[in-house]
Amino acid sequence: MAEKSTNPKPLSGLVVPRFGGIATFMRLPVFQDPKGLDIAISGVPWDGGTTNRAGARHGPRALRDASCLMRYVHHVSRISPYDIARCGDVGDCPVNPIDLNDTIKKVEKFFAKLHGAGCIPLTAGGDHLISLPIMRAIAKDRPVGMVHFDAHTDTWDRYFGDYKLTHGTPFRRAIEEGLLDPKRTIQIGIRGSLYGEADNDWGERQGIRVIYIEEFFKLGVEKVIKEARRVVGAGPTYISFDVDGLDPVYAPGTGTPEIGGYSTAEAQQMLRGLQGLDLVGGDVVEVAPPFDPSGNTAVVGATMMFEILCLLADAHRNRAKKAKGKAKR
Ligand code: MN
Ligand code: MN
Repeated sequence: MAEKSTNPKPLSGLVVPRFGGIATFMRLPVFQDPKGLDIAISGVPWDGGTTNRAGARHGPRALRDASCLMRYVHHVSRISPYDIARCGDVGDCPVNPIDLNDTIKKVEKFFAKLHGAGCIPLTAGGDHLISLPIMRAIAKDRPVGMVHFDAHTDTWDRYFGDYKLTHGTPFRRAIEEGLLDPKRTIQIGIRGSLYGEADNDWGERQGIRVIYIEEFFKLGVEKVIKEARRVVGAGPTYISFDVDGLDPVYAPGTGTPEIGGYSTAEAQQMLRGLQGLDLVGGDVVEVAPPFDPSGNTAVVGATMMFEILCLLADAHRNRAKKAKGKAKR
């Protein structure tokens, strides 16, 4: 890392060994106030939207611990996020483990504050429902596009009668609310048995580009990257990474595993292929540590967070450069 930068820096593993100290995301300092940060990393320790196996509420703490394994420079892109963006751990979003509606409100409020302070959010879930209130906070003024890694479309309509808010519905709600542009959305890795034959049709009818896992394996990583870049284009884009998009061999610690997914290496290559897009936020969700006593799912999740952090920092730098160029003209 550049010595002279005044940006917040992670605690160095060359000074304090990485198993020591207080666990924060990427060993960054904690900020009570997000003002002045370019990228705010936070946790949403909540799994009240889970329809089957709960446990993702324990995700943020496990991800903080595992993120201590991350160093500072991406070994392929050579992006050094802490040199080019002010990054910090802004703690966990307040939640209410026994009230879904209260929690949704709290999450939106927390992310509205980060958004208002000019921060790009990078979030550790939590179940996938948290992406909805995050989008309510950051996509109010204009819809975002999305690159969505998942085994599930998360565009189901209702559960248990008339319940419209679960971790299987966030993107249907986000599209209905005008927060997410379906024509600029791509879902990668979709698979698994359905409740009904037409379960996944709604999203495709809205214009979502759905890449089922069979097509992923047919096309290969490079062509999938090309397709993702074509779909989201130059507009503001969110990355949502559900760890169950990965094969459960790599990420067993999750509530709704589906066999036959892509590998961690393939996911990393896909994420790296998104460099240069106008990225405005990202999350890694559905890490449920109780289902993985080895702790590996948290290592996988933390590594994907670092991959996304590098992309977000690069996007921040690109926007700053562009703004500077405009000011000069
Ligand atoms: Mn999901
Ligand atoms: Mn999923």
